[in-house]
Amino acid sequence: MKNLELNEFVINWIKPFGTIFINLLKVIAVPLIVVSLIVGLADLKDISKLSRLGGRTVVFYLGTTVFAVSIGLLLANIIKPGSYINDEARESLLMSFSGDASQKIELAQAAKENGPLQPLVDIVPDNFFRALTDNASMLQVIFFVVLIGIGLILIEEEKAKPVVAFFKGMNDVILKIIDIIMLFSPYGVFALMASLMVEIPGFSTLGALVIYGLTVVTGLLIMTFVFYPVLLMVFAKVKPIPFFKAIAPAQLLAFSTSSSAATLPVTMECVTERLGVDEEVSSFVLPLGATVNMDGTSLYQAVAAIFIAQAMLPEPLDLTTQLMIVVTATLASIGSAAVPSAGMVMLVIVLGQAGIPEAGLALIFAIDRPLDMCRTVVNITSDATVATIVAKSVGKLNVVSKN
Ligand code: ASP
Repeated sequence: MKNLELNEFVINWIKPFGTIFINLLKVIAVPLIVVSLIVGLADLKDISKLSRLGGRTVVFYLGTTVFAVSIGLLLANIIKPGSYINDEARESLLMSFSGDASQKIELAQAAKENGPLQPLVDIVPDNFFRALTDNASMLQVIFFVVLIGIGLILIEEEKAKPVVAFFKGMNDVILKIIDIIMLFSPYGVFALMASLMVEIPGFSTLGALVIYGLTVVTGLLIMTFVFYPVLLMVFAKVKPIPFFKAIAPAQLLAFSTSSSAATLPVTMECVTERLGVDEEVSSFVLPLGATVNMDGTSLYQAVAAIFIAQAMLPEPLDLTTQLMIVVTATLASIGSAAVPSAGMVMLVIVLGQAGIPEAGLALIFAIDRPLDMCRTVVNITSDATVATIVAKSVGKLNVVSKN
């Protein structure tokens, strides 16, 4: 009896705050990706001026991000962290979200009846405003925003300036709003967890959460200790140990602040003074990387999306949806701000596009901070790696005296 009363209390008086929190994240995600992508693309204008550096930088930044998402997807599909949620809990989760899920299955069936190129057709919106109103049409929104960005790059600078200035201002406004929403996050998370516990009997995600966390960390370790060292040796002839020694202070700061932006000055110093990358290269490659190149974030988004899907959807995600995740996670990581928790806000976009219930965020909240610390280390390690490679390729990697 007592229990029933408690359940009712939680559902009536606590759960709504969890719903409000998720709604706040969802409402800010679309404006955020629109504005930050436009600003990011407009910055590319300067890149075209530095075309010798710019082309290589963009290729390496994009390439490493796509590789990171693919590693994330691969690991999540092999380890299947979502399968460690106990059966009773999964059934209840499925029941509470079966509405969303059955809709998704219908959509998937409809998709099967369409031709093979339908996913491509679906990316191009016939009405931008309709796409804006549907969280599942994020790729359509991104498509149009990229067109706006290209337009901005191609028109006269004088005319582009006020438009870019407007979006830069809006970008700051939105980041401020996210700061405010994040102040509310401990209460939001508490409310979400409390309602999951009373609504889903026998709910225990602890084991699954640990496996999920380990999956993300494994991916991040592969990136740090296998992928980047190989890139460095092949493209820059730089040995991994001196490289890691040189950037250790930046990695430590990234780990403790969870913010690539806050770490940027130290990353700059390490890369120029200790690795010998010429300032001409680092002053361009690193600030750009801090905002757009987030391999750790994109890897984490891929694993988190698959984990939540495994926990909440009756059927595994099909290949097309997973390929879509490569695209959305790459773009979402470009759109993520270099501040704590930004990757998690952007995850809403990846989930929405893949038809995975956003309420699943509640599953991963509890351990997001430590994962954020780790993925930020990877984010800045990637920036430093690409800066070194680009510098080498244009003959701007100086030899530094041994420290
Ligand atoms: N904290 C990360 C960074 O600043 C972004 C994220 O994944 O949340 O690089």
